[in-house]
Amino acid sequence: MVTLKEPVPFFLDDVVRLRKPHPCGGYEWTVVRLGADIGLVCTTCGRRVLLPRRELERRLKTFVSRGPEYVAPEDAQ
Ligand SMILES: [Zn+2]
Repeated sequence: MVTLKEPVPFFLDDVVRLRKPHPCGGYEWTVVRLGADIGLVCTTCGRRVLLPRRELERRLKTFVSRGPEYVAPEDAQ
């Protein structure tokens, strides 16, 4: 199995928690678009934003849940 070398692989429908809250007070976002920019929807207010991948990696605190395409890195070693 191919292991992703990137520090943080994102998948559609991942729910992430960021270090700073959205102005609405929400911390959690659903990944809705992948690419150089990552599309996120605030799970609290439904607002959609685009963040550069590196910016998102900086702001990421943790994954709340992973999308169906996520494969646990059991074979990572
Ligand atoms: Zn919000």
